[in-house]
Amino acid sequence: MQKILFALLALCITVAMAEELKPWTTKLKGLSAFEKHVIVDKGTERPWSGKYVNTSEKGVYRCKVCGQPLYRSDDKFNSHCGWPSFDDAIPGAVKEIADADGRRTEIICANCGAHLGHVFRGEGFTKKNVRYCVNSVSLNFDKKMKSSGNDDKAVAATLKKAYFAGGCFWGVEYYMEKIPGVKEVTSGFMGGDVKNPGYYDVVKGDTGHLETVEVLYDPSKVSYETLAKTFFEIHDPTQTDGQGPDRGSQYLSAVFVNDKNERKVVNKLIGILESKGLKIATKVLNKTPFYPAEEYHQDHYMRKGGTPYCHRRVKRFD
Ligand SMILES: [Zn+2]
Repeated sequence: MQKILFALLALCITVAMAEELKPWTTKLKGLSAFEKHVIVDKGTERPWSGKYVNTSEKGVYRCKVCGQPLYRSDDKFNSHCGWPSFDDAIPGAVKEIADADGRRTEIICANCGAHLGHVFRGEGFTKKNVRYCVNSVSLNFDKKMKSSGNDDKAVAATLKKAYFAGGCFWGVEYYMEKIPGVKEVTSGFMGGDVKNPGYYDVVKGDTGHLETVEVLYDPSKVSYETLAKTFFEIHDPTQTDGQGPDRGSQYLSAVFVNDKNERKVVNKLIGILESKGLKIATKVLNKTPFYPAEEYHQDHYMRKGGTPYCHRRVKRFD
């Protein structure tokens, strides 16, 4: 009996000391009620509510409690699930635990045990076939620390941006995001003189901007020509006063090119379409500054469900 008591006492002392030694104990006390709800009580933030759902800046996502680096921006991808998604974790940084119901696998910070979210396998989102679905509120983003050997220049060298205006950007974004090799599509504005325009400024039609999408793509996986062909097939390039039911200068068809090569590709495709008897209204313009639209316009159809009212796919190339 004495032995057991002694062992219990020793255990209590050890636990008490360990608690005291953990440098993040005070950090836990400083969490807001909502942070505690997620990080300590294993709650889940509402989809699309977290601050890191759509971030694509380079850097490292750290544990909010202990600061341990957990995920790299290089492994972040757009899963359209409403939470930041990564297809890999920094080795050893994240621990997996089967949920009590045995259906899902919880992920926690391997250093301090903070609840992060859940991990899913076999969904086919990326080559690695893993999705770490993480609550934004469990993370702190640190953009100063380089996320890997790739510096920003290397990333800029591997990924390219293309710009297309084909009417309501929700529809163009919807189809462009489906192309393999496309990393991210952002709805925004281009072509006008007004800096940082808001959606309602552009709707009035007097900013000179066109609703435009910025397509971030990996040229080793998809060519500019494929993107441009898709663009000509998902909107009506012959309409001269807008796109579908959306009329006005902000809905006109245009391709904003980065250089002579892109211009050549687009002009070649226009030539092919005109040889088939189509009178193409699409303008080929030089790229000007791109202004992303407000957050609530991004991924419209992924969030709201449904398919575009203004765009559909028509095969125009052989
Ligand atoms: Zn931690």
